[in-house]
Amino acid sequence: MRECVRCQAEMLDAKFVDVMNSAPTAVVVTVGAMYRHLGATSCAVCPKCGEISLYIEDLSRINRYAAGEQKWWKKEPPEKK
Ligand SMILES: [Zn+2]
Repeated sequence: MRECVRCQAEMLDAKFVDVMNSAPTAVVVTVGAMYRHLGATSCAVCPKCGEISLYIEDLSRINRYAAGEQKWWKKEPPEKK
């Protein structure tokens, strides 16, 4: 359980999603046309002041990236709808 940085209340676990596909929002870093997925966002919200905290719960991808692992994906061309 996260604690609010503003008022120290106990925050509620929530979701931060793209409402069009209900998937958690991904955190990525980019270099040119390449990207790397660092993790899905987790979310907590303070019921007292409304503060929202976004964070990555699983730090394994970030730790591998920070350690210099070279693993990048090319961006896919956007699909036409
Ligand atoms: Zn708060």
